[in-house]
Amino acid sequence: MMPEAEEQTARTYVDDVLTSVQHRNPNEEEFYQSTQEIIESLVPFLAKHPKYMEHGILERIVEPDRFIMFRVPWVDDQGKVRVNRGFRVQFNCAIGPYKGGLRFHPSVNASVVKFLGFEQIFKNALTGQAIGGGKGGADFNPKGKSDAEIMRFTQSFMMELAKYIGPDVDVPAGDIGVGGREINYMVGQYKKIRGASEADAFTGKQVDIGGSLTRTESTGYGTVYFVQHMLEDQNRKLEGQTVVVSGAGKVSIYAMEKAVQLGAKVVACNDSGGYIFDEKGIDVETVKQIKEVEQKRIYEYVNEHPEATYVENGKVWDIPCDIALPCATQNELEEADAKQLVSNGVKVVAEGANMPCTLEAIQVFRGNQVQFGPSKAVNAGGVAVSALEMAQNSSRESWSFEEVDTQLQAIMRDIYQKSVTAGRTYQCEDNLIDGANIAGFQKVADAMIAQGV
Ligand code: GLU
Repeated sequence: MMPEAEEQTARTYVDDVLTSVQHRNPNEEEFYQSTQEIIESLVPFLAKHPKYMEHGILERIVEPDRFIMFRVPWVDDQGKVRVNRGFRVQFNCAIGPYKGGLRFHPSVNASVVKFLGFEQIFKNALTGQAIGGGKGGADFNPKGKSDAEIMRFTQSFMMELAKYIGPDVDVPAGDIGVGGREINYMVGQYKKIRGASEADAFTGKQVDIGGSLTRTESTGYGTVYFVQHMLEDQNRKLEGQTVVVSGAGKVSIYAMEKAVQLGAKVVACNDSGGYIFDEKGIDVETVKQIKEVEQKRIYEYVNEHPEATYVENGKVWDIPCDIALPCATQNELEEADAKQLVSNGVKVVAEGANMPCTLEAIQVFRGNQVQFGPSKAVNAGGVAVSALEMAQNSSRESWSFEEVDTQLQAIMRDIYQKSVTAGRTYQCEDNLIDGANIAGFQKVADAMIAQGV
């Protein structure tokens, strides 16, 4: 076939698969968005390698191995019975046990879980570790709940989820609304249910119950290591760059910490109430104290640092910067925000959160020569260190902070190089976005082919 004909065959194949995704998953906008984003970028690759079409890889990969949905009943502090809905998608285990976080947030539903789970397959493959893709959570809002309520909810959630997970089966971790405290409660409940000390069915555990050093910092640190490679490609350095970060959770805090350590100036970050702007550079220790220790709102920052300003309901993307790191949640950076960033001269945007930029926003960056790092590559440091936690658990070892951090740096370098190489090989429109999709896809697809239909 002529190259254009091959390209046309691949495009028709992709379109057919996307039509069937839409048909099979009606009203699942988020899930459709993630399949579209990934699958469309595979066209040049599929055109060159028709075997992936012959093996029906796309039809198979968009369908989860299984999808679990369950009732989570619990009793609040007033003695009232409450019910939430729990989910786990076990998307693909071609290269290892299902791996991915649990999210507790009112926005969680089947579509969001599948959207994140689909993305996770390729992210996990990119890390080079033996981990498949999964995701889960509940439409439970942890905000304003007491510690006892969180514990009761988490225990009830685990009563059901425990049937489906295990160290070689499916290994959950945290995500939005699920941190160390929740994971530790899950470990405790799971041990009781199993009657065994199988803490290695989870990652993100407290260090003295089998967690890994650096896991807390890994997503944020990894994001910044990745940005360093993006800058190096343009013969630029992080030192002296002005950075704006969204979010005030773990990813955001440790991205700020690493950026500052490497000489950048972080001038703003936000939480759901508004943003803080500190021209002299944000004091990350104060943010840590407010968010991690006192668990208060970010506006408290101005009490400690009166030179800073707090803008209620303001958009952090209005602030001029060289580097923007969206580290809060999906679709938080829209087309208008992207245009604002571009008009203020942004040069690099890297996604610390999972798919925080809308497709329209990404088009704006692409059209204006802004270097763009997609989440599945940029924020893979978190799940990569989860895989290192699994390795430490199965060998009954505990590695030092430096050892894990050194491995994290090597993994982020490797992800960057793999993505750029794949993008260049297949002459993609955007080397990093399409290249990351292709590199992740190829690894999973080859493993699927090897294992038969
Ligand atoms: N929730 C994180 C992610 O989106 C980490 C998942 C994990 O460590 O399993 O990649």
